[in-house]
Parts: sequence; structure tokens; C-alpha cells
Amino acid sequence: MTCEFYDKTGCCKHGHNCSRPHPALELSNTLIFEGVCPAIRNVSNILQVNFWNNVYEDLFLRCDEFGFIQDCALSINQNHLFGTFFVQFKNLNDAQKCYETLKNQQYAGKTLKLRFGPMNTLRKGVCIKNLQKRCNDECNYIHQFDARDVAKELFAYNDRWR
Ligand SMILES: [Zn+2]
Ligand SMILES: [Zn+2]
Repeated sequence: MTCEFYDKTGCCKHGHNCSRPHPALELSNTLIFEGVCPAIRNVSNILQVNFWNNVYEDLFLRCDEFGFIQDCALSINQNHLFGTFFVQFKNLNDAQKCYETLKNQQYAGKTLKLRFGPMNTLRKGVCIKNLQKRCNDECNYIHQFDARDVAKELFAYNDRWR
């Protein structure tokens, strides 16, 4: 049996030390950008939200040029999932092109840590309790940044690939 957290989010706080396997994938339609978003502390909520919106928009647009995006999420849990961006392409080819192009690029002063995720939908990895504000930051499921300010326009733009 594989690790439930890895299966649903492509990430696990135990990493290589997990008692369950985390089989790496050579290709899938889901890409995981690990820890892209540096933690910024001691800033107001408004600044924090602006910052996350910018990161979301920026990464979305970098992925957008490769094809139709079905879903994406920026995780803001205060644990191993913090600042991890997930993108799910409709077509494997587009995910592959995105991976090949971006895998060694710099982002926020670091080389992107990019890999394919095992999940065929992001929805299963998103924490339902958090959507109802009944969870805590140590949760191992994705606490998705609410990107409604930018997402609608970005997805509308991406729709040209449909
Ligand atoms: Zn695990
Ligand atoms: Zn949660």
C-alpha cells in the first residue's frame, strides 16, 4: 500500500523516511513546484495576500504557455506543504513540455524543484475541513490559497487552448 498523503497530494512530511512507498513518476499531467514561495513574516494580511496572489499569477502564467490548465492550487499550510504550487494540465504532452522547460529555471532566487505528481485530480488532495475553516496549519492536505482575485481572469485567458 502506498502513502495516502503522497497519493493525494504528491507530498508527505516524512519524505524518504516514510514507512510507505512514494513511487516517483516519469510523467503525469500534474506538476508539483515544491516550496516556491518563500515565507514572509511580520507583514500585514493584506501584504501577504498580495504576495500570494502575485506568486499564483506568476506561476500560472509560466505554465499557461504550454497548454490547457485544468486546475491549480497554491498551498499555504505552515508545514512541508507551504508555498507548494500544483498545476494540472489536460494533456500529458503539455505537462511534459512545461516540466522540460521550467525544471532548471530560477524562481525567487532558487532553482525550481519540479516533479510529476501521482494524483489524477487536485481535488482529492485539497482539505475539505479547511474550506469550512475547521482545520489547523499542521494538516497534511492542501490548504489552498483563495486566489479568487486573480484566478478567474487567468483561467479565462488559458481557455484559448481549449
Ligand atoms: Zn508518506
Ligand atoms: Zn486541513
